[in-house]
Amino acid sequence: MGNQRSVTHKVPDVDSVQPAVTPPPASSETSFLKKPKIGEGRGRKREIPEGLWTKCPSCSELLYDKELENTFEVCQKCGHHFSIDARERLDALLEPGSFTEMDANMTSVDILKFTGVATYTSKLAAHQKRTGRKDAVISGLGKIGTHEVSIAVMDFSFLGGSMGSVVGEKITRSIEAATRMRLPAIVISASGGARMYEGLFSLMQMAKTCAALAYHAQQKLPYISVLTHPTTAGVMASYASVGDLIVAEPGAMIGFAGPRVIKDTTQAELPPGFQTAEFLMDRGLIDAIVPRGEMKAQLINFLEFLSGTAGARKGD
Ligand SMILES: [Zn+2]
Repeated sequence: MGNQRSVTHKVPDVDSVQPAVTPPPASSETSFLKKPKIGEGRGRKREIPEGLWTKCPSCSELLYDKELENTFEVCQKCGHHFSIDARERLDALLEPGSFTEMDANMTSVDILKFTGVATYTSKLAAHQKRTGRKDAVISGLGKIGTHEVSIAVMDFSFLGGSMGSVVGEKITRSIEAATRMRLPAIVISASGGARMYEGLFSLMQMAKTCAALAYHAQQKLPYISVLTHPTTAGVMASYASVGDLIVAEPGAMIGFAGPRVIKDTTQAELPPGFQTAEFLMDRGLIDAIVPRGEMKAQLINFLEFLSGTAGARKGD
């Protein structure tokens, strides 16, 4: 395309003299075309040929994929946490071979016959095919260290980790199993919120999961909520924010409405670092920020503390 770049100043005077610089960097070039999405930039972008290397979106370091696997997908240079899949996360936390999955075949129904750009049914089918999973959460029983736990892990790559009736039901059942078996419950969240394709059926999961947690608490059993990038909206406004302990990964975006919506509504400038794990830690919403590489060891510590078996810790 014959893109004309020349500047059409006719009268040369002092003010109009253009500095002899190359055009501005590429960043501004497509910014109006591309609306940033939640979670974008955290995945592993493979711009480098052959997929052997991944460029860190935070510090631009080139990271060797094999090494990135060894560090649980955390940049060795700057500590940037790439998003990981629910299965990888379970592998990183649980003792090998200890996991028994529950409700693996529970599948969403398109009760509202929802059609947007595409039908809900077709979206579900596409995500199921790509991930090999029925919905955006894996739940089951497993062992962390010596602790038997009931654990549910959300997967952001499945429809933005949105909470529909299957996600809500599986998390509720996972909590109920914990209550019944007198085990600690752990939920690892990554979600854009409620699943709009299911309307009210999705919103009612907020109350349902929290009711199950209330019964769990009545039995004086612990619940640990782990927040990963991003944990927002209906999920943050329900089970993710009511843990006995709330732990987050560094740099995770955590909030209810998105920053743009809040800015437009309040007409106020948002403070720096707004809606990051660190910002919320400072304000008391989060109990600890734990890097992914230390998550397992820290969860063991927390479980020992909460289950009262911390004999070695007495007299700290
Ligand atoms: Zn980095």
